[in-house]
This record gives sequence, structure tokens and C-alpha cells, in this order.
Amino acid sequence: MTLFYKSTRDSENVVSASQAILQGLAVDGGLYVPTEIPETDLDFKHLANQSYQEIAALIMQLFLPDFTQEELYECINKAYDQKFDNQEITPLVKVGDQYYLELFHGPTLAFKDIALSILPHLMKKAAQKNNMAKEIVILTATSGDTGKSAMEGFADVKNTRIIVFYPESGVSPIQKKQMITQKGENTFVTAIKGNFDDAQRKVKELFNDENLRSKMADNNKVFSSANSINIGRLVPQIVYYVYAYTRLVKSGQIESGEEVNFSVPTGNFGDILAGFYAKKIGLPIRRLICASNQNNVLTEFFQTGNYDRNRPFYVTSSPSMDILVSSNLERLLFYLTKEDTVKTKQLMDDLNKRGNYKITAEMKSALSDFFADFASEKETEQTIREVYEKENYVIDPHTAVATCVANKYEEKMLPTIILSTASPYKFPQAVLQAINNEGEKAEGIAALNKLETFAEIPVPAAIEELENAEIKHNDKISAEEMTHYVEKVLNLK
Ligand SMILES: *Cc1c(COP(=O)(O)O)cnc(C)c1O
Repeated sequence: MTLFYKSTRDSENVVSASQAILQGLAVDGGLYVPTEIPETDLDFKHLANQSYQEIAALIMQLFLPDFTQEELYECINKAYDQKFDNQEITPLVKVGDQYYLELFHGPTLAFKDIALSILPHLMKKAAQKNNMAKEIVILTATSGDTGKSAMEGFADVKNTRIIVFYPESGVSPIQKKQMITQKGENTFVTAIKGNFDDAQRKVKELFNDENLRSKMADNNKVFSSANSINIGRLVPQIVYYVYAYTRLVKSGQIESGEEVNFSVPTGNFGDILAGFYAKKIGLPIRRLICASNQNNVLTEFFQTGNYDRNRPFYVTSSPSMDILVSSNLERLLFYLTKEDTVKTKQLMDDLNKRGNYKITAEMKSALSDFFADFASEKETEQTIREVYEKENYVIDPHTAVATCVANKYEEKMLPTIILSTASPYKFPQAVLQAINNEGEKAEGIAALNKLETFAEIPVPAAIEELENAEIKHNDKISAEEMTHYVEKVLNLK
């Protein structure tokens, strides 16, 4: 049997892996999930001697069967090269009695680079495979990191364009600067008056807008997504869970087959869902720790079975997790309902109409793969300080949320791998505030230099260059104007 993808809202909507990557979101509004979990026998001792790229080829082949090994290697070698400032791509670092999987060594200093540096290459191959000659237009809502990372990946890629929407007051100063200085003739980015959820909801509407879709077709264009609703984002993220585990085997910290926990700072539920798939194909994971910030809608969901987005929205020091509608949770619901597309659709309709839904006791009992909790702003700050004072290791606020929640988890006997999703240099004010009480005072390059004295690793070039980078994008619109903005940018008639 070959693996295909089907929509979480319609089991008749079945497409190949490459078509799922091209479409991003299913036309019925659902998300694509594999029609089966690939069978495999992971030999961790053998994998311990393989490189990141080799493990990527193995794992991605399982989920993308209509790509050849040769094609995958071509994509992998273009993605995971000198753009990453560490040969290991995602190095695993022991800090005290925990492990940090550093996912921030790519060009924009956040974990989104792992998937977004390969997605454009996968998409190009997918277009060739399906004889698709249309221009691919990527629509992306960002809570701060996806936007820059996706533009960096798609900039000047032939036959593609990318339009990014970011919340005007929901991203860090460096995140904003990274986006508005983006180069590339085919990149467009605008601020939205509203928060990430407003932008994401509207982007989903644009995908499903029949009128717009037919205009796009008339102009020989087609939409796709670089958000984690695209399986082309999720699959490359499964790789580093496996990679991290094999490094523990390699260094003799665990025996092959021993269980571990992963703590994942979570917003849109994409990163942790990749871990869920890693577990499903046989990675020995006991618990996936779902760590939220003050926007703790997921903590409540895992603890009570109620999902309710009708709550205050907080702008926190970990802005990439300031999300109340976690898109990828739909894929988990699909599994919790035992792959029932009717029930999944019902729950998502409830969420759309009422802003909440409740799962059954039976569904809730299937949540034992997860532990969920959240870190307040104060706890996040304290965690940054404690890790620095105890271990002389500087972490960013998102990573601190994951550390704090991992420490709240009571069964601590197993090795815990904390996903470190952003470089501290991306959030210098918050980090300096935590370490030295100086967040307010330090700005711009001075803050970076100050942070350097604590972190004892050089300021990454990508951040330093921002100081004098030319501003190229100045737009600001309301969410209602997004349709018009897209039509204007694409010159749709
Ligand atoms: C996007 C992001 C997250 C959250 O990841 P999800 O896949 O949306 O759950 C966490 N930390 C950082 C730094 C991010 O950019």
C-alpha cells in the first residue's frame, strides 16, 4: 500500500503527498493527514552513525513516497548547507541534567528555518511532478518567525511569490525589522491591525474564497501555504526528533529503545504534532510536554477536554506562541476521533461558530501521550535567569517556557529533551531583563553587544546586519482589506 493524504474533514478527498504540499490546505477547509502511518523499523544504533541529512532522507521518504530518494537528497542538500551555522544542523547540548535541541542555527535564528529552508525545494519538485505550470503564491500569516523564515526560503525562487501578514503589535522589534527589510522581487509583507488569530483566520478564508480562486486560475496562479497546516512543513520537523534521540544513543547517554520526553514550546501545535508522528513511527517517546505561555488555551484543553478561544489575548515575551486558535490541533482531533472526518468537522464547525468545543471522555482518555501546562510571564523570566545563573547557558523566552513546564512535570526520571526554538539574540530585551534587569535600557546594537557578554557566543551575522538594512516594506492594513491587498499585489483582473 502506498501512503496518500486525505482531508481531516472529508475522507473522500485523497491526494498524493506532492499534491498535498502544493495545495497546503484542503479545499474543504480541512488539513491533510497521511492515509496510514508508515511502517518502519528504526535501527537507532545504525542511525547514530548517520548525518542529519541521511536521517532526513530516511524519514522524509516514509511520508513523501512519490518523491524519489534522489529528489529528496537534492532538496535536502540545498536546504541543509552553509545557511546553517552548525554542521550538525540541530545540535543537541547537555545543560545540567537536561538536553537542549538547538533548532535556531538557520538563517533567521528560529526553528521555522528547518522546515522552511526545504519547503520551496519540495514545492518546486512537486510542481514538476504534477505538470503544474502555474505561479505558486504563498499566503502566510505569521506570529513572528514563520514570515521571515518563509520569505527567506522563497525569495527569488522562480515561479513563486510570497505574501506575509503579521500582527502590527504582536511581534518583537527584531522580528519586525527582519521582515520589513526582506529582499527579493517576489516577496510582499504587510502589518495587520489585529492579532495573529485575525490574520490566520482571514488567510484561511482567502484560501477558500471561490471568487478569488477563480480569478487566480484566470491569471494562471494558485495559492499554497507555508504555515504548518502544510504537510511539507510538518514532515521535515519529524526529522529532528529522531536525530536528537540518535545523538543520545551515540553519546551513550541512553540505550537504544529507552524512553525519553520532549518538551515543546507550543503555539500553532505544528512542532509538537511532528513529535506525535515521530512517536507513531516508533520513536520511544513517553510524553510530549505541551508548553504554553500565558495564552494557555491548550493547557486547559489537555487538562479538561474543553477548547475555548473566548478568552483574553495576551501579548507576551514569547510572541511566536501568542495564539488562541492552534490550527494543527485539528489533526490531533482527527486521531482522537479514530479518524472520523464527520466528528472532526463537527468540532471545527463548533469552534468557528461558537469559539469553543468539548471532546468526549473517550477522546480525552487518548490524550495520555501528552502532558500540558503553562508558564506565566514571571515564571518565564525567572527560568531564563535560573538557567543562566546555574548553568551559564542563555535561552530565549520561548525555550524558557518549555524549560519551566518541563520542570513542572513530576515524573522526571526520564531524560528530557527541550526544544530550543529561537536564539536568545532574537529577543535581547526580554533576555537582558531576565538576566540583568536591564531590558528597558538596552536597545539596538547595544543590547546585542551586552547580551554577547553573557551568552559568550558571537552575535549572529544575520542579526548584526539588520542594524543598517534598508526598509523595503511599509504597508499596514486591516484584516478586512487583505483580499484587496492580495488582488492588488498580484495584479489580478
Ligand atoms: C512558531 C514558534 C513556536 C511555536 O511552534 P508551533 O509549531 O506554532 O507550535 C515556538 N517558538 C518559536 C520561537 C516559534 O517561532
